[in-house]
Amino acid sequence: MMNPTFLQQELEELQAKDLYRSLRVLSEVQGTRARLEGIPILLFCGNDYLGLSQHPRLIEAAGKAAKKYGVGAGASRLVSGTSAVHTRVEEKIAGWKGKEKALLFSSGYLTNLGVLSALAGEKDLIVMDKLCHASLIDGARLSGATIRVFPHKNYERCDEIFEKNQDYPRKLLVSDTVFSMDGDLADLNALVKIKKQFGAILIVDDAHGTGVMGLRGRGAAEDSGLEPEIDVIIGTTSKALGCLGGFAAASAEVIDYLINSSRAFIFSTAIPPVLCAVIDEALTLLDEQPQIRHKLWRNIQILHEGLSGLGLIQGPIISPIFPVIFGEEKAALKASQYLKEQGILVPAIRYPTVPKGKARLRITISSLHEKEEIDLLLSALRTIRSQV
Ligand SMILES: *Cc1c(COP(=O)(O)O)cnc(C)c1O
Repeated sequence: MMNPTFLQQELEELQAKDLYRSLRVLSEVQGTRARLEGIPILLFCGNDYLGLSQHPRLIEAAGKAAKKYGVGAGASRLVSGTSAVHTRVEEKIAGWKGKEKALLFSSGYLTNLGVLSALAGEKDLIVMDKLCHASLIDGARLSGATIRVFPHKNYERCDEIFEKNQDYPRKLLVSDTVFSMDGDLADLNALVKIKKQFGAILIVDDAHGTGVMGLRGRGAAEDSGLEPEIDVIIGTTSKALGCLGGFAAASAEVIDYLINSSRAFIFSTAIPPVLCAVIDEALTLLDEQPQIRHKLWRNIQILHEGLSGLGLIQGPIISPIFPVIFGEEKAALKASQYLKEQGILVPAIRYPTVPKGKARLRITISSLHEKEEIDLLLSALRTIRSQV
């Protein structure tokens, strides 16, 4: 037999450690239901919190826009890829986020890469929460800045790090608002206080807050009165807005700077106008139909009650993300497999998406779930609980 290549070897090691991943192909996705390998399956794992990815009004907007603009932007934004629908959506997002200007990127991932690598350089300091999303970590690394990480939501430690590192010319403080794998919330007040004390630039990633949090669904900072204090609010249009794309909302000066220096923005083809038209419609829909979001929050309440009752989660209602922690990769995989046999899809989330020893089922809920579907999930989880 031939010696395995180093790639094969690594893949085998992943398999041995229960860290191997493969793609699952879904078909006939209809809201919360789909087929997996031909078998009907109920989805409790996506980020389409408001079910907008298949909303008739968004589909119609996409069709109309495709006829009008075609399917691609044809060039990067600074060449000939900017259309009126790009600037219209950017104005709307800026208004939503209470900032002067906004800038669209092709995805949330690229936004984080593009913003952090533009706003910090090798001589600078980036201080970030340990559980920041991978794209923020990658953006920080790409910037070449010195990176210091504080334990999750430990703002005392964050303060100490700044205290000890005052000499950097530019200091960035970076956090998710709603943490993507834990569903908990950063303390924006604490972050603002630290940023002011040390003259740092505060950047928050509101990927899971946008469309979900706040009185009008405009994000985690909406009702805090802190929007003016947050220098850059990043978000995605890939989650509750049901589409794809990312944005940064900030002062006119910061946005101008990003347009002139963010490589992920400059050297990438513009997000297609057809997607901008869909995002535009999603924002309108969210303003017009708050009942969609209210339904989501009712479902969050039902699931929270059920999971708390089973002792699988602790703490108050926060977001549509419910981590049920198993610890060992194997245990999370087994639970996920059992759910799959019951016709429910909740993949096991493992290292490196979450720390070692924190493998989990990341259960998410959407406004489209029916009470009976939630009951089905809870009853399967009850069985799992009785087996561990
Ligand atoms: C999903 C996610 C992103 C990436 O956004 P995409 O639009 O999917 O690329 C960035 N930040 C956080 C916190 C996320 O959860």
